[in-house]
Amino acid sequence: MSSSKPQNVRLSRLSQQMASNRLDGLLVTQMASIRYLCGFTGSAGVLAVAGKHARLFTDGRYTQQAREEVAGAQISIVKQSALTAAAQWLFERAERIGFDDANLTVRQLQALKKQQKSSDARKAKLVATEDIVARLREKKDNSEIEKIAAAVNLGSSLFPTALAAIRPGVAEVEVAGALEYAARRAGAEGMSFDTIVASGQRSALPHGSASSFRIPPSGFVVLDFGVILAGYCSDMTRTVSVGKASGKMRSMYEAVLEAQLAGIASVRAGVPAGQVDAAARSVLQRTKLAQYFTHSTGHGVGLEIHESPRIAKGQPQLLEEGMVITIEPGIYVPGDGGIRIEDMVVVTATGCRVLTPTEKQLIEI
Ligand code: ZN
Ligand code: ZN
Repeated sequence: MSSSKPQNVRLSRLSQQMASNRLDGLLVTQMASIRYLCGFTGSAGVLAVAGKHARLFTDGRYTQQAREEVAGAQISIVKQSALTAAAQWLFERAERIGFDDANLTVRQLQALKKQQKSSDARKAKLVATEDIVARLREKKDNSEIEKIAAAVNLGSSLFPTALAAIRPGVAEVEVAGALEYAARRAGAEGMSFDTIVASGQRSALPHGSASSFRIPPSGFVVLDFGVILAGYCSDMTRTVSVGKASGKMRSMYEAVLEAQLAGIASVRAGVPAGQVDAAARSVLQRTKLAQYFTHSTGHGVGLEIHESPRIAKGQPQLLEEGMVITIEPGIYVPGDGGIRIEDMVVVTATGCRVLTPTEKQLIEI
């Protein structure tokens, strides 16, 4: 059972954020943000925050679970919609009520506006905001970093199992299956996302989820996977060669590895995210491979697999101590295949700590 302490710290950080957004009420509809603020891990519910008070609205399926998990918030078990009940509670207490415009449907918003008109809350105003809880979640506290590191270690410990499953003629889904079974046996709550096993020509697909395609006798295999442990996600990518790598394959691999190491070396609190992207990208520019690097360099990871900040071209957001991000440059060359190498790192005042312990030298199977 988690203590109520971190939740209370988080709720008080949230009320500062609300004050700076001139909000006296907040409707939290994103489940990971609800979990972050009050510890509730159920899959349905709405958290309402007004001033120093927070109340979780959920339904009868979660009576016991909410009692066991929730800290720092009161609980209401409701028969009707949790959203309606949470909004009503806020209409009675707050005037400027923020909602996360990325996590409320058009239909739900229309219903809330109607509800507001028919209640005595004519003065209350619903204000679309970015997810201000997502902002709070960017910087991880020590207990979160410990959990993330444990998830990363579990994920990395599965890599040899995946390697052992890779052989010419084996379907990509079989490799994913061996990996995911091992993950469950090792205690994972689930995978962070659909496991990517992309072999041969398919390695040139940046997001080639494992398919029935059979691993060819030569070429790259991109393995990108992660586990969820204590609610926190891990994310790692390694690329291996089936058979002996050609000189060209090896030089492509070395370029991506150099770009990845340059990205890691550029991470430090106070550095704009875009500068980390530029550090990785410039290595590939020098080796004339930048045109094949078709995505951004990384992303935040925590309760969700993709969180802010984005580590992308031109991103001005400054990195802060305690952010956990991925560094994952890749190149995808039609005909030759693709390579990606991804680690998770914690941003520190002087640089970063790489969490992913797995070797990065090219492995030939
Ligand atoms: Zn990944
Ligand atoms: Zn990633």
